[in-house]
Amino acid sequence: MPFIDLQTQYAALKSSVNARIQRVLDHGQYIMGPEVKELEAALAAHAGTAHCITVASGTEALLIAMMALDVKPGDEIITTPFTFAATAETIVLLGAVPVFVDIEPDTCNIDPRAIEAAIGPRTRAILPVSLYGQVADMDEINAIAARHGLAVIEDAAQSFGARYKDRRSCGLSTWGATSFFPSKPLGCYGDGGALFTNDAALAQAAREIRVHGQSQRYTHTRVGVGGRMDTLQCAVVLAKLERFDWELEQRLAIGARYQQRLAELPVQRLAVRPDRDCVWAQFTVLLRDAAQRTAVQASLQAQGIPTAIHYPRPLHQQPVYTAYAPTWALPHSEAAAQRVISLPMSADLSAADQDRVVAALGEALAGARD
Ligand SMILES: *Cc1c(COP(=O)(O)O)cnc(C)c1O
Repeated sequence: MPFIDLQTQYAALKSSVNARIQRVLDHGQYIMGPEVKELEAALAAHAGTAHCITVASGTEALLIAMMALDVKPGDEIITTPFTFAATAETIVLLGAVPVFVDIEPDTCNIDPRAIEAAIGPRTRAILPVSLYGQVADMDEINAIAARHGLAVIEDAAQSFGARYKDRRSCGLSTWGATSFFPSKPLGCYGDGGALFTNDAALAQAAREIRVHGQSQRYTHTRVGVGGRMDTLQCAVVLAKLERFDWELEQRLAIGARYQQRLAELPVQRLAVRPDRDCVWAQFTVLLRDAAQRTAVQASLQAQGIPTAIHYPRPLHQQPVYTAYAPTWALPHSEAAAQRVISLPMSADLSAADQDRVVAALGEALAGARD
């Protein structure tokens, strides 16, 4: 079985995807074609924001969000070390400083109680990650940001479509930044991403930065990037949106079924807060320690079950970012990196395959008991 099943999805959407791609080939506007605006309107409606700006990738979305906020060298951005490298890499690319604070051990999302102590005179923004598809504690984070005059950028690369109270991921703060990397909950067939905001001036800034800082053609009023999402990829996402709400329901149901079945096994399940859902970009559980994880992963592989580790090392322990290790300890991030394992997950995961995964995990755990 695949770790993420994109073939069944393509089979279900084949005529729409192919027709959408054919239409782009026929009109030939490969850059900033009509599908770009069409997708931006559809995504803004889905996330519940006034503005959506598609960009070249989730990484580019984070970068452009911070450029639009005029993040400068030496500015500090408070974030989590238990995430994909892009979260911190974009901060460092701008000469700013990632200030890592620890996660909650049960959700693996940034702990808002750790944020306030990390705020200093150079703090410019807070960058929580809605990890695995569960929105971080955005109301608490927004309240802290408001008290200190900070911007909040939600790294929503894994959480597009996730609900938080009566709202959706990406529409919860100054900026929401998502990714359409093929394996994300809403993916394209290459690289793509999007930014979301209710602030018209920030949206305009991002639109200009996306095309080399042009306010009009060949009038460069700011430093920008080549950050557009191409028309073909927008066409693919438009086709995928036809099935996306069904897929979200499937993801929630499959995630709930995993959680229920795994209650019988000696693993720690991720906590999902009652006021939000998790769209399970990754279906991740916590094992006892790294040694048990190595044994379990090998056993699952031998039984034909692919797994992955998101993420094996927190960013403050990555060779290139050790200079940003804070003076305080990050025990929960370090423990999670030793203990997490992700199981096969996608909207098209069958109950039979899911049963096989759970049974294989049970056997693996029994074999790895000591
Ligand atoms: C995937 C991901 C990104 C980067 O998205 P790309 O589209 O691959 O550039 C950033 N942050 C997190 C948490 C991600 O999972």
